[in-house]
Amino acid sequence: MSQKGTKNMGKGLLLKNCNVLDYFPAEMGAEASPKVEKADLRIDGERIIERGPDLQPLPGEEVQDLQGVTVMPGNINGHGHMYSALAAGMPLPKTPLETFTDILTEVWWPLDRSLDAEATYLSALAGSWDAVRCGTTLVFDHHASLAAVGGSLDRIEKGMDEVGLRGCLCYEVTDRGGKGQRDITLAENERYLQKISDNPQSGVARFKAMLGAHASFTLEERTLELMEGICSRMNTGIHIHLAEGTTDREVSQDRGWPDPLDRLANFGLVRPGSIFAHGVDLSPIDMQTLQDKGVWLVHCGRSNMNNGVGRAPVDRFPNNCGLGTDGLDDNLWGELRTTYFRGNEGGRGPLSHRAAAQFWLGNYRMAREIFGEPFGCLDAGAPADFIILENFQKTPLTSDTWLSHLLFDFHPWDIHAVYVGGKRIYLNGEAPPVEAKLLQETAARMWKSMGWKS
Ligand SMILES: [Zn+2]
Repeated sequence: MSQKGTKNMGKGLLLKNCNVLDYFPAEMGAEASPKVEKADLRIDGERIIERGPDLQPLPGEEVQDLQGVTVMPGNINGHGHMYSALAAGMPLPKTPLETFTDILTEVWWPLDRSLDAEATYLSALAGSWDAVRCGTTLVFDHHASLAAVGGSLDRIEKGMDEVGLRGCLCYEVTDRGGKGQRDITLAENERYLQKISDNPQSGVARFKAMLGAHASFTLEERTLELMEGICSRMNTGIHIHLAEGTTDREVSQDRGWPDPLDRLANFGLVRPGSIFAHGVDLSPIDMQTLQDKGVWLVHCGRSNMNNGVGRAPVDRFPNNCGLGTDGLDDNLWGELRTTYFRGNEGGRGPLSHRAAAQFWLGNYRMAREIFGEPFGCLDAGAPADFIILENFQKTPLTSDTWLSHLLFDFHPWDIHAVYVGGKRIYLNGEAPPVEAKLLQETAARMWKSMGWKS
């Protein structure tokens, strides 16, 4: 395909001869209607401004002839952890970690205490580079760095911004470090929520904020009260792990608390526009509550498998469902594929094609609701967030085969370029935005502080 031009510098861009896959009409309330169509796309600034056959170049416009390759919306991660990017490749534990609690206390909680300010920023930068190379353009991130809380969301934002991603950020409030640290985690959320509220971004928002929390079982009652206060003051939902395994419910029982979802509901924290991740250990009544309250329940299938927390009842998830990688990586095609395979493995019955589509499209519906922009659409008026695939397309992509391509055909190595807001943020073969040596030194420093030897 034509390589004319470099990064689009805002003089307008015309993509000729695209095979456009998109999932939604531009109207915000519209139902999903995935379709594939031959079209040209005109981009000006951060949006697509025209779509149709045989669009003619305007003076000064950059023109790329894509010769029939696929152009599709950027992928969206419904629950991620940029902070875990430098945990990939960490030394393995000397003794096997047997329970989910072991995994938390031996790996993830020491990791979040090892993240200093620089390591937090570099994790976001490295994680964002991994994400964009998988075609992911928007991440609902859930952050924790207990040794360096204040300002940490700015550092995550900086790392993501330098790569060019969009993000919805929050800090995981917890009582794990006592009241003093609890207050710092609450303050970091409120500070960042206020910052986003005070600085409305012109056009399509690059960053949004929510109130984050780790999980019900590490939150005391007073903390839940304080969280409700922030939600009411800032008019926001919460982003929290819910019933990731049985631990959440077991700790509740030991403490004499109601079950986790009831407990959150009692404190007014089951709010529309919230994101609850995992939902492995939820009853049918819990699922109905989530459905009634308009909460997003994000399935993290590969993470559930890795942590051995059990099998999420995906066939009972509410209509507002989506997919998240939970910090394993930001490869949403891999996430969809594996969770679909897992559904077919037996035991609970297959995750149907219809359900696979619903989980995939759910991430776009969630982003549309929370950002107020028609993501998942490549019509005039939509944000110009898209992936251009390589020209090796071995089987036809049509309105009838799009889901089959998502499930079996598309891979990160098929990506030629990625755009966010009309700006090219990745071209296959480009150098990373940070030296590997610096990342490796930072990772080794973190692992050492965790007591692991590298
Ligand atoms: Zn998570």
